[in-house]
Amino acid sequence: MPTIYGLTVDEETRCEHYHQTEDVIAIKFKCCSKYYPCYKCHQACADHSMKRWGKHEFDQYAILCGVCKTELTIYQYLNSNKCPACAAPFNPGCANHYHLYFDL
Ligand SMILES: [Zn+2]
Ligand SMILES: [Zn+2]
Ligand SMILES: [Zn+2]
Repeated sequence: MPTIYGLTVDEETRCEHYHQTEDVIAIKFKCCSKYYPCYKCHQACADHSMKRWGKHEFDQYAILCGVCKTELTIYQYLNSNKCPACAAPFNPGCANHYHLYFDL
């Protein structure tokens, strides 16, 4: 399993900021290729500002399911409300933050 950076509070990648049952993914940031549970964790721990994934990069494996540790492409993640591997539901509220991570 890749290392998860940030203020992670449990082994399913919930963090200090987002720790409801369904908050089980980590995102690999384009700027540093490191997994963080959320942009606030990146802000708190990284020494640079974050970069978003471009539209042509949605085939990159940049999402980690915290439950089964499968890496998903951005495309797979954006087109499913649950993990295709273990069926863990994803938090629908994350959609409000897609623009921070992805250039949609
Ligand atoms: Zn970064
Ligand atoms: Zn966080
Ligand atoms: Zn999964």
